[in-house]
Amino acid sequence: MYPEVSLYIDGKWCKGATGRSEPILNPATEEEIGTVPHADKADLDRALAAAEKGFEQWRKVSAYDRSKIMRKAADLLRSRADAIAKVMTLEQGKPVAQSKGETLAGADVIDWFAEEARRTYGRVIPARADGIYQLVIKEPVGVVAAFTPWNFPINQAVRKISAALAAGCSIIIKGPEETPASCMELIKAYIDAGVPAGVINLVYGVPSEVSEYLIPHPIVKKVTFTGSTAVGKQLAALAGLHMKRVTMELGGHAPAIVFEDADLDTAVKILGVNKFRNGGQVCVSPTRFLVHESLYGKFVDAFTDIAKNTKVGNGLEDGMDMGPLANGRRVTAMEALVADAVTKGATVKTGGKRIGNKGYFFEPTVLTDVSDDARILHEEPFGPVAPIMPFTSFDEVVKEANRLPYGLAAYAYTNSAKTANAIGAAVESGMVSINHHGLALPEVPFGGIKDSGYGSEGGSEAIEAYLNTKFVTQAGL
Ligand code: NAD
Repeated sequence: MYPEVSLYIDGKWCKGATGRSEPILNPATEEEIGTVPHADKADLDRALAAAEKGFEQWRKVSAYDRSKIMRKAADLLRSRADAIAKVMTLEQGKPVAQSKGETLAGADVIDWFAEEARRTYGRVIPARADGIYQLVIKEPVGVVAAFTPWNFPINQAVRKISAALAAGCSIIIKGPEETPASCMELIKAYIDAGVPAGVINLVYGVPSEVSEYLIPHPIVKKVTFTGSTAVGKQLAALAGLHMKRVTMELGGHAPAIVFEDADLDTAVKILGVNKFRNGGQVCVSPTRFLVHESLYGKFVDAFTDIAKNTKVGNGLEDGMDMGPLANGRRVTAMEALVADAVTKGATVKTGGKRIGNKGYFFEPTVLTDVSDDARILHEEPFGPVAPIMPFTSFDEVVKEANRLPYGLAAYAYTNSAKTANAIGAAVESGMVSINHHGLALPEVPFGGIKDSGYGSEGGSEAIEAYLNTKFVTQAGL
């Protein structure tokens, strides 16, 4: 059921030139399910040459035809969603229904960018003199180097590839080594739809080796990364040194604010489901739960019930709400964050421990009495641990929400239009979702501010990152 993983360079599936590879583990069993080949410099050189050639070819394909090929890729991905979902669950762990949902959502992203391909409009600016035409033209930036992580192996990659292809760019994507096969299945859908050789190249390897080689390379004109803020800062610095266009989609620490007039049942239910979705390994996961003191006790009880009733197990089995965490590092990180919080006075309402000793399962966890200096209130947990804190006033909660350098997502629940407007304006965040969980659709902007990065990977803003604006003025026609 698990496919052989290969690199895809210049229209051919291949292994790395030096034969280096690393094992792929099923996070539910810790068993080796395959190996992922590593690209070395010779492979990256081939990918660069192919992408350069692919760009010259793809930029000449009309937007109309690019769009048609992309729509076909979306249809292929949809028709293969059941099989791809099983592959994704095997390597990433999430319940198979969520893997299928991610694959289908990926197809929606391709469709959205296929439409955007035909709308990369320029404009004509009125001139100051007769016979002068001032034209603004949008052109593809060129070869893109993209780096995507393991938490959503298809969805993190599909946004970058689709925006690049829609704009007329070619791309070298370094996919996630821990979850490589679902990303590979995504690439296959594009290839089978008719994307020419060289336009998409897929590599795996030692992340720092690949990024340090590709980012400064003169053939690469645009860099896009999704991952941690620490790595994002390094890559953005390197890109800056070489004057490359950059999109950075980095970590978050989303405040989830429940005001005194909120519909408590709705807030608990939506926040609970979204906290534990994908084991909390989501950059926009609700993270700091800030609940008005008048609702605090009830919220903690109801949220703790949700955590206790979240069914954790192998994602291939029916009825699971949460699979294992994607790798052993997350389990170690959760254990350390919980231990640190408890040492500093936190109460574990439920959870707090690894489940069993085979597979990276961790209990959905709720913490109260968390002290201000607990690490979990400063670092992105990226796991199923929810600290819940009370607040008394609007100003106090805004101060807390904006305290961290992160600014990706924020959530709020209130039945007051005035409070909804005020919190939407006051919170320092790239995205704010009020009274529902409404982020990450292809047609809406997706991105952060502050240390959460810059640029948007959704909405009509997203394609701009892959386009140069050229001004042409002409006289005397
Ligand atoms: P990490 O910081 O080592 O890696 C995060 C991602 O960046 C991985 O996909 C990795 O392959 C890639 N990466 C690391 N170093 C790189 C380099 N020098 N060049 C290019 N790519 C590089 O940590 P991790 O243990 O894999 O993940 C843990 C943290 O990463 C989480 O706590 C979370 O903050 C962040 N993360 C964020 C997202 C997101 O959606 N924004 C996704 C995955 C991980």
